[in-house]
Amino acid sequence: MTDQHSDGSLKKWYRIINTKFFNNELPDNVIVRWARGGEESDVASCSPIDNPDKKNKYLILLNRAKNPTTSIKLSSLAHEMVHVATKNRDAHGAAFDEWHKKLTERGLFRRGALLSNTTLF
Ligand SMILES: [Zn+2]
Repeated sequence: MTDQHSDGSLKKWYRIINTKFFNNELPDNVIVRWARGGEESDVASCSPIDNPDKKNKYLILLNRAKNPTTSIKLSSLAHEMVHVATKNRDAHGAAFDEWHKKLTERGLFRRGALLSNTTLF
């Protein structure tokens, strides 16, 4: 794959969410970027990437058209970050639910958790 670089702003949010709500448990060597045309038909995705140098573990793609607001964008990113947390093991099964509950308890979905006047759903 070519051009495996994070978008600075999305990676910044990845790090903020990791620090504030994942206790920094997620690896930093994850690429987070907007998908290019035709690359991602879903809202977002998280896939393991196999670099020869093992530099990056996962690639998180966000579909710009399907993440039109900051709230949706950050929700999508947090969702994909749960896949990183569960090491992409069980899609949306028990481990995923457990993390989602933890994030709710830690206040991620409270109004203003990441940005004032913004609620993640
Ligand atoms: Zn998912």
